[in-house]
Amino acid sequence: MVKITGIEIYPLQADFKKPFSFSGITRLSSNNVILTITADQGACGWGEACPVPGMSGETAASICAVLKDYFAPLLIGQDPLDIAVLTRRVENSVNGNICAKSGVNIALYDLVGKLLCVPVYTLLGGKHRDEIEVNGSIGIGTAAEMLAACEEQMAECGVRYLKLYCGKESVAQDVRKLKEVIGGIGGQAQVFLDVNQQWSPKEAIKAIRSLEEEGLLFVEQPTPKWDLEGMRQVCQAVTTPIAADEAVFAVTDITRLAMAQACDMIAVYAMKPGGISGGHEAAILAQAAGMDCFIGSYLELGVATAAGIHLAATIPDLKYPCYMYGPMKYSQDVLQQPLQVHRGKVAVPEGPGLGIDVDMERLLAMRL
Ligand SMILES: [Mg+2]
Repeated sequence: MVKITGIEIYPLQADFKKPFSFSGITRLSSNNVILTITADQGACGWGEACPVPGMSGETAASICAVLKDYFAPLLIGQDPLDIAVLTRRVENSVNGNICAKSGVNIALYDLVGKLLCVPVYTLLGGKHRDEIEVNGSIGIGTAAEMLAACEEQMAECGVRYLKLYCGKESVAQDVRKLKEVIGGIGGQAQVFLDVNQQWSPKEAIKAIRSLEEEGLLFVEQPTPKWDLEGMRQVCQAVTTPIAADEAVFAVTDITRLAMAQACDMIAVYAMKPGGISGGHEAAILAQAAGMDCFIGSYLELGVATAAGIHLAATIPDLKYPCYMYGPMKYSQDVLQQPLQVHRGKVAVPEGPGLGIDVDMERLLAMRL
């Protein structure tokens, strides 16, 4: 039997190339936590937790504490091949702490893939595609600033899908600005919105109806996550598909959303709901409930982005782009071969586990 021998924790600071604003938050840098789970045959699995305190309530300090004090004692001495059993024990040991739990789950998958010499997507049943269509994202700014960012991302990475953040101004101002930006894109990319819960149901219905002729691909979390009845009202009042993002932190949230008919689509992350295991379950459950899903992100570095790419590769009917854009937003990454978006797509990494190698020198240079 293989045994887990240790966990190493690397809290770090990763700077964004440019400040990035959405709803009430501006991100200048991200205090991600990279971790390794080592086994007694010398193998080591990499994981990453990417806290956005305004979203999951976690910080780098809370993630390090829960990894060291709660998860490491549970995992050391156990067989890493028992991924589901260990993930359940980790899940039950502490409430919440979703990114810390996801980091452990990602590291376990990487470790087991390496021990068995297969990619993570093989552990999930195989890949349906070799490349994933990626969307860029445009933080809140003036119409001119947003349009310049659209042009930059289309030129740099060839993205054919762009997510526009909005919801900070009045509905009338937002609609006017978004029409100007979408008009400026001129059909070079398909557009969708992320409102991060900033509209009331009535505002959402008014705004989305005013924008429907612009051909929005979908609208992500227009209204508050707790108001399933409000989400249902918006869903029924517009033809544009509505995606749930902040409303999904656990796989069971998808059941509640489906029963309430509160959305058409689900955003699944490698960071929620529960890493690669939870993300895989979420994708299956969403599709069984008649909803589409796509892989979203908190803009992670290469380790967790690779996990999201493996997840995306295993979704049978993936109709929408995935937000695997994190590595393009940071001024540095921890991978030896950074993930790149070319012509709007990122290749599914090959090789055992996540198919990535971490550059220790870079990691230590970014360590806090
Ligand atoms: Mg979102």
